[in-house]
Amino acid sequence: MNIAFIGLGNMGLPMALNLVKGGHAVTGFDLSRSQMDSLVAAGGKVAANAAATAVGAEVVITMLPASKHVESVYLGDGGLVSNAPSGCLFVDCSTISPASARKVAKAASDRGFQMVDAPVSGGTAGAQAGTLTFMVGGPLDALARAKPLLEKMGKNIFHAGDSGAGQTVKVCNNMLLGILMVGTSEALRLGMANGLDPKVLSEIMSKSSGRNWTLELYNPCPGVMENVPSSRNYAGGFGVDLMLKDLGLAVENSLDVGASTPLGATARNLYDIHSKQGNGTLDFSSIFRLLGQKT
Ligand code: NAD
Repeated sequence: MNIAFIGLGNMGLPMALNLVKGGHAVTGFDLSRSQMDSLVAAGGKVAANAAATAVGAEVVITMLPASKHVESVYLGDGGLVSNAPSGCLFVDCSTISPASARKVAKAASDRGFQMVDAPVSGGTAGAQAGTLTFMVGGPLDALARAKPLLEKMGKNIFHAGDSGAGQTVKVCNNMLLGILMVGTSEALRLGMANGLDPKVLSEIMSKSSGRNWTLELYNPCPGVMENVPSSRNYAGGFGVDLMLKDLGLAVENSLDVGASTPLGATARNLYDIHSKQGNGTLDFSSIFRLLGQKT
């Protein structure tokens, strides 16, 4: 298939490379020249701008930072909705607000294009290994067209509902993850302030009703677990600023739909303070540091 891939960052580049490996003709575009060079080195092509990637494309995939970038690439001057070849399928894998996803999908549909929102979970490791989880919103027949490509980049592909539903699932999941990381950090800090060994405390809670992913597989306390960001000074992993962005989407969405998300809002405020203290690029489990004891 002829695929246009726009946004070749930490996630987009390895995803595009998996499509090249899968035998597809991929033409990419990114604002960063070095990212485009990496695609060319692996057998892909590049174009001068987003619209130029779409010439001759059957599918356009976007993996961009946030709502404003997605809206500009699809709806802005020279945007895909006005310039892509007719019949082209749009697949947006970026994490953006459900409202923005619906707005872009509606504009695409008004111009006769099918579109799905297909945000991912699994991080850069999942993008490299081709084991991402896709949460897809949009018409089922559009998903059926996208599926063979998504299967080259991911392992689990879920249909969540209509346009924007993939983004809604992503927002709910990451809000829960952010809250759980704060809760796990708080419980570990409380136990440690009482003189408990965090390894022993984690082991017991992992077999008790407080068990959860952040405790069992991504423990935020340094030294409890090997091969997680907390054991390498919180380097790598999923950044504080990305979690802050996702919690911001959750708060924004809860206001849009009138849902109550008090813990999501509190978690967002904690990550905001943590980021402003200079920790934006650390892994999000470093929130454990914010809850540190007085020395
Ligand atoms: P990134 O910042 O590494 O990559 C984004 C890329 O988009 C950059 O290379 C940037 O140059 C490019 N870009 C920005 N505006 C552009 C434009 N107008 N035209 C072309 N290229 C443009 O970000 P990432 O980590 O790859 O994340 C991408 C998306 O995936 C985000 O929405 C993020 O929230 C989501 N996500 C990230 C992770 C993760 O672990 N990194 C996990 C799940 C989801």
